[in-house]
Amino acid sequence: RNISPFLDPGPRTKANSLAILQLSRDNLLPVYLQPPTGEHDGYAEGAVVNTRYGSFPHSTMLNVPWGSQIRASKVDTGSRGRKRKREGVDDACREATGAAEKENEDSPAATNEDSATAVKKAVADASGFIHILPPTPELWTTSLPHRTQVVYTPDYSYILHRIRARPGSVLIEAGAGSGSFTHASVRAVYNGYPAEGERKGKVFSFEFHEQRYHKMKKELSDHGMNRLVHLTHRDVYNGGFLVDGKSPEADAVFLDLPAPWEALHHLSRRRPQTPLNGNAAPTENDQTEWVSPLNPKKSVHLCTFSPCIEQVTRTVSAMRRLGWVDIDMVEIANRKLHTSRERVGLNLNFDRGVNNSARDVEEALTRLVDIESRFREHAAKPRDGDEDMDSADEDEPAVVKGDGPTNGGQAPSAEETAAETAPWMEGRLITRGEPEIKTHTSYLVFAVLPMDWTEEDEAAAAAKYPLGK
Ligand code: SAM
Repeated sequence: RNISPFLDPGPRTKANSLAILQLSRDNLLPVYLQPPTGEHDGYAEGAVVNTRYGSFPHSTMLNVPWGSQIRASKVDTGSRGRKRKREGVDDACREATGAAEKENEDSPAATNEDSATAVKKAVADASGFIHILPPTPELWTTSLPHRTQVVYTPDYSYILHRIRARPGSVLIEAGAGSGSFTHASVRAVYNGYPAEGERKGKVFSFEFHEQRYHKMKKELSDHGMNRLVHLTHRDVYNGGFLVDGKSPEADAVFLDLPAPWEALHHLSRRRPQTPLNGNAAPTENDQTEWVSPLNPKKSVHLCTFSPCIEQVTRTVSAMRRLGWVDIDMVEIANRKLHTSRERVGLNLNFDRGVNNSARDVEEALTRLVDIESRFREHAAKPRDGDEDMDSADEDEPAVVKGDGPTNGGQAPSAEETAAETAPWMEGRLITRGEPEIKTHTSYLVFAVLPMDWTEEDEAAAAAKYPLGK
């Protein structure tokens, strides 16, 4: 079965599939891994990703477990045209655990080599690695090529919850833009191979900008989402939401359009009597068939996404006239919290690009050697209850007695900390919030269109639940 890597990435990376390279905490790079087909673009190693942390031949990133740390190639892959042998390239392909184990065994510090040199070497080595992550809608949103403004994770997670997108839902989205929302909605509605009588979860997406439509089409195909998303090139204000003249029978709708009120008259149960986009009003004598794109058997949940309050006002007005109910507006004010541990007088911040506040390099190096040796000691030490543990627990990190102090607590002395805790539990736990909420993204307007309750529905309900019995 050819499932999108966004839905089932499998345990390991594979050729011709999307991977997200994490260069540093917030620096993500989407890459389609190429099979090792020999020379590629002047590189003897095949395709290579060049970053400020080093060069990473695709061959070193294939068939490794997701989440692996990948070391930079020791071969000078930057010299284009120089036909290097593959030799040495595979050396760089050591996934995190294997590499760490090997290094622990061969560690110069462990063989009493000059510790400062060992630490310098370790630091130099550590600068040349990245991590390889499976594609998820969240990672895609932060790394995708922007063609438009996009909907970000805090907004779309709330939206998908409110419009009740769930496995088996059918969702209409317009416009598709850069596909950020599309990826998240596909994951929400995906239900694999539904049982008989169940609907297949699907997204019907619309985009009127031709180039964006073509780019999106290619992306969906590259991401194995062709069967899950039906993308249509159309101006939905005029063309509406039917596909090949048929109703998608949508349960949920998301509109990220400059003028959602101009599309709303298509999202009705029957032909609206009021034209909302300047088109001629349908006459009462108009006998042509009118097909609704909505699921006739359910209440439909809608969200519109608009940056300005004027757009919200016009949208709400159109919703009211078209019979939408439970209308409300929400703004997501997202604030990040950064949590770290800090030791007084020595803040070793391992995040690349951030200077640490060690008084001098000497102190930092000594400290690193100390941490490294205690890491080793800690790993070697038997833990409470080890005897009773079954093998499944062996890889779990040690549970440290007496957790490190938090903001409000009394910090133990450095000696106590060193004696009692693992190195990664040292220091005061500090949580800093962003000083203010940075950006307004958009206002979210939600509404519900109840299903039409017919005489037949009433009769069926009465038969199923007879009164007085
Ligand atoms: N939600 C998208 C995402 O998360 O990547 C971004 C959508 S972007 C802000 C708005 C898109 O709507 C643009 O790509 C634009 O071309 C498209 N659009 C604008 N008017 C449209 C219309 N009448 N019919 C279809 N698409 C339209």
